[in-house]
Amino acid sequence: GSTIGVLGGGQLGRMMALAGTNLGYRFVTLDPTPDAPCGQVAQQITAAYDDIESAKKLAKRSDVITYEFENVDSNVAALLEKESYVPQGSRLLYTTQHRLREKRAIEAAGVKVAPYAEIQSEDDLQLAVERLGIPAVLKTATGGYDGKGQWVIRSETEIAEAYSTLAKASTELVLEQFIAFERELSVIVARSPRGELSTFPVSENIHVDNILHISIVPARIPQEIQNRAQQLAAQVAESMEAAGLLAVEMFLTGDGELYVNELAPRPHNSGHYTMDACVTSQFEQHVRAICNLPLGKTNLLTPVVMVNILGEHLEAVVERLGTSDDTADRLGVVPKLHLYGKKEAKEKRKMGHINLLCRDVEDGLDWIHETNIWRKINR
Ligand code: ATP
Ligand code: MG
Ligand code: MG
Repeated sequence: GSTIGVLGGGQLGRMMALAGTNLGYRFVTLDPTPDAPCGQVAQQITAAYDDIESAKKLAKRSDVITYEFENVDSNVAALLEKESYVPQGSRLLYTTQHRLREKRAIEAAGVKVAPYAEIQSEDDLQLAVERLGIPAVLKTATGGYDGKGQWVIRSETEIAEAYSTLAKASTELVLEQFIAFERELSVIVARSPRGELSTFPVSENIHVDNILHISIVPARIPQEIQNRAQQLAAQVAESMEAAGLLAVEMFLTGDGELYVNELAPRPHNSGHYTMDACVTSQFEQHVRAICNLPLGKTNLLTPVVMVNILGEHLEAVVERLGTSDDTADRLGVVPKLHLYGKKEAKEKRKMGHINLLCRDVEDGLDWIHETNIWRKINR
């Protein structure tokens, strides 16, 4: 059995290791937190992500290297490529680490992104707001996640403050036109170094406070749009010569246009539904892709709704799923729990998720609503 090294030891690495272990691989992870979620199910080297000596150690112990986040230090990426085998390469990382490079790569694939402008000064921002209109979203080009490093500009009076606040975090900023989307969608594509490509079913995603809350599959949109979304995601992965997984986040507007919001070159929270609802999970598919194995089938076995468990939900969820669940029985919903083994249940921290297997996604949404654990959403 070969050993797969994972840079980053969070839940994505953990679920990758659990899936890959079933294919006979061993895992070793590099993470600064002792006993990280992935380290609990694999060997762990405990050190900072950018510690060169430890990265070297990871490379020595691994036949194949992958990562579970995109902000991999470029020195580390170069070293890993030199000392081991990184089938995903460093170009995919370089592109997806930076919103401007990413947008240019998406456009080069012939796919639309929201109109945007590169911002290097407050004057740039003033002009860009005039051109793109209000509202507009100012984002740091690097390092943002869960909506951190973003400012929705709703009035010209906010320009100075938005600029000075975000410029502290990053010298490179991007302004995007605000897309009044009808739905947010994502498609996860797998591509292997030998060029085999496979897409998962389209997920409809609902965010609360910029954090993914729910994924709904099948997405409640016409089949024709689902086909287009999958086609477009495949086109981006092909054009970038991606290897491993590529998650493609999109906006669908009322007139049927699809815009790509952003990419992630790794397993994605909106693909967790695949663990129980697809023949092959995104994690197994990622391992297959980077190991150049034939890709697995991605058929959807059942409608499913995935709901995230954040720190503030954990206690109520554990109590609820520990007793007989009449609501689930009445709705014909089967809740399947996944927890990540994180010690502290901090607010907004992703602790686990539930895949609600159901006859119809509306039943899964009813279950979430009736438990009174999560904030009520507009369906
Ligand atoms: P993630 O945790 O997914 O990496 P992130 O911090 O990188 O998030 P984005 O995905 O760029 O942020 O944006 C977060 C959310 O903000 C989006 O899912 C969407 O709901 C909203 N949003 C971002 N950009 C736009 C836009 N141009 N128009 C409308 N809504 C937007
Ligand atoms: Mg992001
Ligand atoms: Mg996003």
